[in-house]
Amino acid sequence: MNAVGVEGVWKFYGDYPALRNVELSAAPGACLALIGRNGAGKTTLLRTIAGFSRPGKGKITIFGNSPRDTETRRLMGFIGHGISVYDELSALENLTLFGKLYGLADPKKSALEWLERTGLERVKDGLVREFSRGMRQRLAVARAFLHGPKVLLLDEPFTALDDRAIAVLQRLLREALADGKTIVMSTHQLREALELATHVALLNRGQVAFHGPRTAEMVADPGWVYARYGEG
Ligand code: ATP
Repeated sequence: MNAVGVEGVWKFYGDYPALRNVELSAAPGACLALIGRNGAGKTTLLRTIAGFSRPGKGKITIFGNSPRDTETRRLMGFIGHGISVYDELSALENLTLFGKLYGLADPKKSALEWLERTGLERVKDGLVREFSRGMRQRLAVARAFLHGPKVLLLDEPFTALDDRAIAVLQRLLREALADGKTIVMSTHQLREALELATHVALLNRGQVAFHGPRTAEMVADPGWVYARYGEG
């Protein structure tokens, strides 16, 4: 069974089809890099896969189930635009709160573990509003991993990260893959993404122009897919 299935998905904003009959899948343990120009539909697709918005037509499945089911939501971790943590709480309070929402057995223990893994242990009691951008990003990463999701959905995860946060995220993503987790990530940072990806999909104006395994050619020349399948 696929970890992520996208079957004939259309998404309209008014009359405008932001996704046109998208067919994609990711097997368990795969890392699918979603590439495409600004406005190609990557964010729309990831948000639809995450169950934040419904497809106009077609179907999304996460291990065979709707992403909108409560049980399925627990299987997913999301990193996207806008940092989904509370400014007026400390880092530890944030993660403990989210751990409670996810129904973890020991939310504080999990929170402390992920603060350590993202290098935020030392500032765990500091208010997030006083954090640097890089620290907030690492906290958002910790939040996405906290509940042990099987599927990670990442919208431009490397954008606006400082070097340290990039290193932390790359390490965690490698560990997640080694652990059999599935990743779908949109990105403009081709080099970072292609190093990690097992598969690549190119969106052109809401349509899949290419979907296939990542090859050595792509790693050697990150622009290869665009040159061959892009819109010129
Ligand atoms: P970027 O790389 O800039 O984030 P993207 O590939 O993620 O782009 P989307 O953000 O998914 O692309 O947008 C796809 C298309 O849908 C664009 O033409 C965009 O203008 C349009 N669009 C996105 N969100 C909305 C919305 N809420 N209402 C109307 N149109 C939208």
